[in-house]
Amino acid sequence: MEREILLLGDPRLNETSLPVAREELEEMMLVVTDLRDTLYSFRRRYFVGRAIAAPQIGVPKRLIYMEAGPVNGALFNPRLTFPDGEKMELLDDCMSFPNLLVRVERYRRCVVDYLDQDWRPRRLELEGDLSELIQHEYDHLDGVLATMRAADGRAFSIRPGAQEVGAAVGATAGTASAAASGASIGVVSDAAGAASGTPEGGSIRYKHTNLIANNWRRLSGFYQRALGLQSIGQTRDISENWLERMTGIPGAHIRGEHLKLPGVEQTLEIFGYDEVLPGVQALNRAGFSHIAFEVDDVEQALHRVLAEGGGQAGEVVKASYPGGVTATFVYAADPEGNLIELQNFRR
Ligand SMILES: [Zn+2]
Repeated sequence: MEREILLLGDPRLNETSLPVAREELEEMMLVVTDLRDTLYSFRRRYFVGRAIAAPQIGVPKRLIYMEAGPVNGALFNPRLTFPDGEKMELLDDCMSFPNLLVRVERYRRCVVDYLDQDWRPRRLELEGDLSELIQHEYDHLDGVLATMRAADGRAFSIRPGAQEVGAAVGATAGTASAAASGASIGVVSDAAGAASGTPEGGSIRYKHTNLIANNWRRLSGFYQRALGLQSIGQTRDISENWLERMTGIPGAHIRGEHLKLPGVEQTLEIFGYDEVLPGVQALNRAGFSHIAFEVDDVEQALHRVLAEGGGQAGEVVKASYPGGVTATFVYAADPEGNLIELQNFRR
C-alpha cells in the first residue's frame, strides 16, 4: 500500500530509528511492501527514486528498501564501513524534498553489512553512485538528512527541469512524455533563454541531448570518470504505455540517467532500450555527429578517455586562429564508439 512520504521539516525525519528484531520480521515485510509501493508511486510522478528508508513513511525502524545495482529488496539493520578515506562531491536529492538538490560530500567506496529478507547476513561493496545512495539512506536511519550535510551555504539548488516534472503530475500521457523525454536530440537555442531564441509562438531553450547506449551504466560511468560529468540523481526506468506510443516501438522500455554537462545546467541523458539497434559511427556520416568538450589540456583529457576504455579517431592537431590563438583539437570516442571532440583555445 502506498504511504505518505514525510517531507522536510517533519520532526519524525530527525529521529533515530530502532533496530529490527527477528521476531518483527513478518510485520516488517508488510512495511517492505509499503515501501516498494510508495517508491513505485513516487517514480511514476517524478521519474526518479531508487531507494527509500522506513522512517520516510513514519516507521522508525532500521530498514531500507532499494532497487538499484545489485540490490532488489530490503536491507535490515545495515552497517556501513568505509575501506578508505576517499571522498567525492555530488548533488544529492531525496524523496522527502523532491526537486531540491544539495551538494554534499560522501565516501566514494563503502561496505554495507545487513540482513536480507530471509534474515541472512549479506555484505556488499559499493562504489560511486551506489555508495552515495546507501550512505544517503543510512543517514535517514539516524535522523540525518542531506540538507544537514550541505557542503556550504551555497550547496542548494532546484533540480533542472523540475517545473516540467511537476507539471507532469496527473497530466495526460501526451504531456507527461515531454517531461520524461525520449530518444531525441534537444533543439539547440540560446541556453539562457534570451530573446534571441524567440520565434513566433514562444521562446525556445536548449534542453538536453540523448545518447542511446548498449550499456547505459557503463557508458554513464565513463562520462563521469573520464570527463567529469555529474549525475543529477535522476535515473529513468520507463515502460509505460505512453512511451510505446511516443516511440512507436512495441514494448518500449528505457532505462538510464541524466548527467549534468559541465558549464551549463542542461544534461546529457544516457539511455538504453531493452533492444538497441547497432549504429554506425563515422565522422563523415550525415546527421547529428558528436559532442564537444572544452578542456584545459587536450592530451591529458584524451589520456583519461583512453584509460577509461574510450578510443581515438584521429590525431591531436594544433591550428592557428586570429589574434594569436592556438586551438588544439582531437576526435576521440567513448567506449561505445560515439564521437567526442576535445578542444582547447589558448592565446
Ligand atoms: Zn532521502
